[in-house]
Amino acid sequence: MSHVSRVQALIAPINDVLNAINVLTWDARVCMPAGAAASRAEQIATLTAVAQERLLDSSLLDAVAAARIELASADAPSDVATVRSIEAVEEAIAFHQRVPAELTRRLSVAKGRAQHAWLAARADDEFGAFAPHLCDMLVIKREMAASIDAERPAYDALMHEYEPGMTTTVLRALLARLRAELTPLATAIAAAPSPSGDVVRASFDVGRQRAFALSIAERFGYDVSRGRDDVAPHPFEISFGSSDVRITTRYDEHYLPQSMFALWHEAGHGVYEQNADPGLARGALTSDLIGLYAVAGTSYGTHESQSRLWENLVGRSRVFWETHYGALVDTFPERLRGVPLDDFYRAINRVTPSPIRVEADEVTYDLHIMVRVELELALLDGALEIADLPAAWNEAMESTVGVRPRDDRQGVLQDIHWSVGLVGAFPTYTLGNVMASQFFEAARRDDPSIDVEAAKGRYGSLLGWLREHVYRHARTYRADELLQRSTGSGLDPEPYLTYLREKYTSLYGL
Ligand code: ZN
Repeated sequence: MSHVSRVQALIAPINDVLNAINVLTWDARVCMPAGAAASRAEQIATLTAVAQERLLDSSLLDAVAAARIELASADAPSDVATVRSIEAVEEAIAFHQRVPAELTRRLSVAKGRAQHAWLAARADDEFGAFAPHLCDMLVIKREMAASIDAERPAYDALMHEYEPGMTTTVLRALLARLRAELTPLATAIAAAPSPSGDVVRASFDVGRQRAFALSIAERFGYDVSRGRDDVAPHPFEISFGSSDVRITTRYDEHYLPQSMFALWHEAGHGVYEQNADPGLARGALTSDLIGLYAVAGTSYGTHESQSRLWENLVGRSRVFWETHYGALVDTFPERLRGVPLDDFYRAINRVTPSPIRVEADEVTYDLHIMVRVELELALLDGALEIADLPAAWNEAMESTVGVRPRDDRQGVLQDIHWSVGLVGAFPTYTLGNVMASQFFEAARRDDPSIDVEAAKGRYGSLLGWLREHVYRHARTYRADELLQRSTGSGLDPEPYLTYLREKYTSLYGL
């Protein structure tokens, strides 16, 4: 056995363990009884420790060192996936060696406590009950950042786990560009007559909602023979390898868009996972060995680009509804017969500043992210005291999104992220939006049949382009490399801004 094969043989069971963790996670979020939360947390912590121990085991360390020498020899396998998989293992080992086990353990304990405290604090609208846990979490995350890379700004070191290669400098410039366009656009929309959302606020049978949404997800390419859909309070996608990729949504009988767009969003994540090259299964390129999470998508932002591409660029477009609105009317004739397509299209694309990020429309969504990024940066470097955070949040929401939260429940306590240790992850949502437009533009430029098919309600060519340029590579290329290779450009907000400007200028008659 070559040393490269030896590394691959040692990584495969680690990937199996990570997939088993995903099964436990899926169960915890879909059907586990609430009383099992503590024991499930222990089970997951044990398996995570098993994966980490195997990653740092001397047998793997030796095999990686030998594989390195082997790859340098003249007759070595030189395909990019092989080279990158060895590099990914090396990088993950270095990461886990740098971050002390004691710190990882403290983070794990803090997460358990903070999440519990956050749930209670949010229920009681009592930020003070969460504040000490947020304080602990920030202390730990600062220490983590320093142990990951003391030379880099803390935020850069933390973002590396979610979006390798991203820096605060690049991010700030990107957000400033978005702010300069989105703020006047949102202001102009606010001054224009608002379309009614009433047509989608009526009683819509949940069983029929599911049947329609799933039939469209299948058209997008989500393979139900290698997946399943369930109900979860917070919709998510999770995979146990590409042969079992599960999605969830939540239903509101009285608000049609909720389940439909959430399901297509998660199906977008799902087609990414389902279309990874089977040859990369159980390997370093279908495992996030730094985050210890089984996933084929190459970064949080890239993953989000695919969910948003299918949900928004396809699913919220005029051309999409020109072909599928008839089927929706047939599904809910008692509600939608007689409702013109235009009224429906405007109802599902209404722009209304909301205090809640997950309810935000396309125009104001990134403004929510800007608020969070600025506050995270200020908290990390000590410019903002935790006690002052709720007021700072409300101020920033008012000046950036144009709406002041009524209380902390719909303000600073709304997101789960900080309580589970996700500091520096919010930018990936905006990066996803930006990249989605870049991929979509490149695909349509490369293959004119994509638009021809879309006008007939078919998406095979679009899926084919994405499979070829994005999905099959799994984690072979970093997000910035993938963008450069497939679109010919680095991270660029202009296609996204053009999309938003054209769509909403026309929709609101600006
Ligand atoms: Zn998502």
